[in-house]
Amino acid sequence: MKISEMFGKGKTILSFEVFPPKKTMPVDTIYETLDGLKDLNPAFISVTYGAGGNAADRTTCEIASAIKHKYGIESAAHLTCVNNSREDILKILGDFKECGVENILALRGDINPNVPPKDDFKYASELITFIKENGSFGISGACYPEGHLDSENMVEDILNLKKKVDAGAEHLMSQLFFDNSCFYNFLEKARIAGVNVPIEAGIMPVTNKKSIERMVSMCGASLPPKFTKMMQRYENNPEALRDAGIAYAIDQIVDLISNGVDGIHLYTMNNPYVAGKISNAVSSLL
Ligand code: FAD
Repeated sequence: MKISEMFGKGKTILSFEVFPPKKTMPVDTIYETLDGLKDLNPAFISVTYGAGGNAADRTTCEIASAIKHKYGIESAAHLTCVNNSREDILKILGDFKECGVENILALRGDINPNVPPKDDFKYASELITFIKENGSFGISGACYPEGHLDSENMVEDILNLKKKVDAGAEHLMSQLFFDNSCFYNFLEKARIAGVNVPIEAGIMPVTNKKSIERMVSMCGASLPPKFTKMMQRYENNPEALRDAGIAYAIDQIVDLISNGVDGIHLYTMNNPYVAGKISNAVSSLL
């Protein structure tokens, strides 16, 4: 099923994101994660694609296929283009088709200063056009409630987002944020600009201080005082920080659902315990 077909029934959907295990870990560890996530009834699970883009790496494809066919849950495979040629992308699309993967989150990918980008695709919108020309996949794109870091300003970023939707993105998943007002402001501007596809809000629960600091430095999400206080108070107590992080994410999600957002995309960090606590707390609201 195409992800864009899951919306429009006046309900908020809940979806998950997982990442393939690191190269040093056995690939099978992802199945322990999925075993823990399967009974939480996500609308779909998306699987990230390694930065640096390796056409020969079929891990994302294999995991997205297993989610759909072994676990019976719809899936989406992330795909980045900055380090891939047209030929590489055609090969990957062929793999997706062969594995029965129906949905793709089409991304540019981060530009690594040590790896010169390939020339075929400059922006995600070009990848989206190419995917549309070469298959019948459901296509999603990424959006940034606080603006993308490369972007001069929010207006420019939203106009670029509109190009992505015009190219064929039927659904958007947002970057993580900790201040819901950033998401509501973005949503208002995006709708005014004519971005009329379903937009899911990206929520990342804090599970440990280091990982959240790394994520925030990479994506530039702003930290409300309420959040910073929580991190400071519990930084030396991992269990308390985890529980406070779960409570913070639930609070954000309850507010988002009450405001009628299209969907919540939960960055599970491959942690079924945390995903379970959050999903169970909000399941009656969906
Ligand atoms: P684009 O949409 O191409 O935008 C990139 C920048 O270019 C923006 O500043 C935009 O305003 C600007 N721009 C776009 N079009 C134009 C235009 N026509 N003219 C001028 N400027 C333009 N990365 C991974 O490596 N693997 C993943 O699995 C992954 N998953 C992600 C999932 C989500 C939900 C999100 C939000 C991000 C994810 N990323 C992932 C990170 C993403 O690859 C980076 O944020 C990347 O820097 C931008 O990708 P994009 O697809 O948003 O790029």
